[in-house]
Amino acid sequence: MSLIFGPHPKVEPKTADDGGVVIQHVRAFVFDDNDQEKKSGGGADCHKQAKGHWIVDSDIANPMSVYEQYRASRTSWGIDAMGSIIVEVQLSNGMVGVGISIGGDAACYIVEKHLSRFVKGQDPSNVELIWDQCWRATMNYGRKGIAVQALSALDLAIWDALGHLRGLPVYKLLGGKTKERMPVYATTARPDYAKEMGFHGAKFPLPYGPANGQEGMRKNIELVKKWRDAVGPDYPLMIDCYMSLTVPYTIELARRCEPYNVKWIEEMLPPDEYQGYAQLKKIITSTMLTTGEHEYTRWGFRQLLENKCCDVLQPDITWCGGMTEARRIVALASAYDIPVIPHGSSVYSYHLQICFPSCPMAEFLVMSPRADKIVSYFGKLFKDEPLPENGYVALSDDKPGFGVTLNREELSLKRPYPTD
Ligand SMILES: [Mg+2]
Repeated sequence: MSLIFGPHPKVEPKTADDGGVVIQHVRAFVFDDNDQEKKSGGGADCHKQAKGHWIVDSDIANPMSVYEQYRASRTSWGIDAMGSIIVEVQLSNGMVGVGISIGGDAACYIVEKHLSRFVKGQDPSNVELIWDQCWRATMNYGRKGIAVQALSALDLAIWDALGHLRGLPVYKLLGGKTKERMPVYATTARPDYAKEMGFHGAKFPLPYGPANGQEGMRKNIELVKKWRDAVGPDYPLMIDCYMSLTVPYTIELARRCEPYNVKWIEEMLPPDEYQGYAQLKKIITSTMLTTGEHEYTRWGFRQLLENKCCDVLQPDITWCGGMTEARRIVALASAYDIPVIPHGSSVYSYHLQICFPSCPMAEFLVMSPRADKIVSYFGKLFKDEPLPENGYVALSDDKPGFGVTLNREELSLKRPYPTD
């Protein structure tokens, strides 16, 4: 027996002619060319960096490290192949909201040719309705990856526009502050500099994986020891493994890290290895285990929670389904007493996190090529991205939306699939 109701009447937004404000235009952009995107500091794709940058051209274990020819640089296998996407929604009163993700031309195609039909003419308040229609309509080819990244950028653009329309920061639309400022930890090649810059901890990439054998394992441990010695005994130190390890390798790594007080080991296994994560969580008690950077939607995060895969979830707000989905993920995780410390995401993460008590700390990637100074996470994409100072990020009380302005003057953007 099931509950069967008749269809709900269609939601009919007031039209612009009736004095209602509706979404009139949806536009999806990429950078005009690859070099410009790299010179602009990567935009929404933190891996779109010039040669020599620590995040692409240093030893960082990754899923392709098993192939020797792709080991030296992550750009050699195309970690930056997709590039940024910038989505604008324009309201009938002229206000514009901006959301971003990765996915390049392919994501632009999804936004303009498919998703825009659920957005144009809609009341920007109806974020749940728009999200649900986009989700259901892409189910036959989406569910994870690029389709959800496209939806994320669109959803964030709508939240930004809604903030402008209401004259409020997004965090005030979501529920207001639970803390005055966000403590921030650094992801960096230089934990010593991160400590000097005032960050509340430092996470560095693991250089070697199983394909580097016992010598690689020994070098990994030497690096952990080096950074522990450099930052002193109590400074929080974390290790990012970027989906590169196996269950037995992680067990040995955790065991050999025991003397060095590692706060957490991150994303050790490929994202679909839910059973492997669950197995590690049962075995490893000397450090916390975290993951979720490459997981999508509440259904994906439910898998991690139900299987007890980790101690902390790390969704990327610009990838996991946008703000509409991220707040559901936080709510779901809170029922399991699992904190959420999002991956990167800058302002999109800060506006979410400041609202929820179960989001204790933000990540900031130190994106200067030598990890020696704080620069904007999104490069030149925005004119006014708030940056951490002395280990904290504060948000403006009165800047509407996400509080950032697209840097139209310095960027050359193109719209590969214009639909209006
Ligand atoms: Mg990571």
